[in-house]
Amino acid sequence: MASIEEIIRRVYKALEDEEFQEALWKASLGSEVRVPRILQNYEYIRELAREVTEARKKSIDRLDELIEELKDSARKTGVKLFLADTAEDAREYIGGIIGKGKLVVLSKSMVAEEIGLREYLEEKGNEVWETDLGQLLIQLEGSKPMHTIAPAVHMTVERAARLVREKLGLEIPDNPRPEDIVAEVRRFLREKFTNADYGISGANAIAADTAAVVLVENEGNIRLVTGLPPSHIIVAGMEKIVETLELAVKQAMVQAAYASIYPPTYINIIAGPSSTADIEHTRVYGAHGPREVHLVLVDNGRMKARETPLRDQLRCIRCGRCQWECPVWRHTANIWGGPTYGGPMGINWTGITLGVEEAGPLTLLCLQCRRCDVVCPVEIPISRIIHWLRRQYMDRLLLS
Ligand code: SF4
Repeated sequence: MASIEEIIRRVYKALEDEEFQEALWKASLGSEVRVPRILQNYEYIRELAREVTEARKKSIDRLDELIEELKDSARKTGVKLFLADTAEDAREYIGGIIGKGKLVVLSKSMVAEEIGLREYLEEKGNEVWETDLGQLLIQLEGSKPMHTIAPAVHMTVERAARLVREKLGLEIPDNPRPEDIVAEVRRFLREKFTNADYGISGANAIAADTAAVVLVENEGNIRLVTGLPPSHIIVAGMEKIVETLELAVKQAMVQAAYASIYPPTYINIIAGPSSTADIEHTRVYGAHGPREVHLVLVDNGRMKARETPLRDQLRCIRCGRCQWECPVWRHTANIWGGPTYGGPMGINWTGITLGVEEAGPLTLLCLQCRRCDVVCPVEIPISRIIHWLRRQYMDRLLLS
């Protein structure tokens, strides 16, 4: 658990890091207008956001029933479902499937970060590669994602070039351009995609009625991670379940719009392993895509959080809009945060997954300006929850 002194020390270090501040400043340019422009151009998004808000509230209320429905749907579609109470349960289950000496490709998943999955699989003797470019840079840097959607938001192009040169031996010219890095990383990862034994992804939403998982992206790496290896493992928080596939797709559309990537290049729907019945109408699993699909649903504090004001945070669709809007985050990124999550939503997610003791000191840096509340597409009273966490923490401090 980080003390308030430790948190302040980290924040000052980030403030004094000129490259860090320059990259954040560049990435934040225009962030105020990006989403409003999308909402203006695609008027139906606001209505979809309202629908998704109500659907998220309802699904959190009905989570126990939806998990039961999901179990039935998973049986029908051939998805192997595992409910993990803790991060350790999830790691061990996935580690048990993969074993050791395997090549694993990962697409960006904050829950995989939350449970320390990559490090765990590496320690077990597997070769594991992040395939989202930003997340790969985080892997090479040995740090944590600095934004929910843009993990390497704190890196200038020079810093990114240095990393891929030094850690992967890629040939990046002096005075690098983002295009140079993208082209070299693409070439490097092609071989990993095609030879991988396992692909691991997260999920933007999970439909209880079909056990279908919806994933939204621009890079195209999710298509490869979920389509090329013979086995696909999905790891996601339990709160990602919604009632229907229709709502799951709508949620992915809203997430993309508020993450300012609309229209998204790809929306993937995965409902079970690939199969064919083209010969004598006999169903054979493992056609061109994976022959097995595992869905690991992680609790790790989520179900318990429903009994407290943290309940409202569970409907978060992880668009990261609140982070861009927050005057503190814009100077610190997720340095102001717990081991995984940072910024406005991240303080509350730290509370959900690690408890008041871990989240408490972080809340003291919040200005309570409420800008995060105003921009949240699913109307989460983020600052109010931070305030509640702060009260809990201060009460404990005063009583101890
Ligand atoms: S209320 Fe706190 S978390 Fe929200 S935008 Fe303001 S400073 Fe950031």
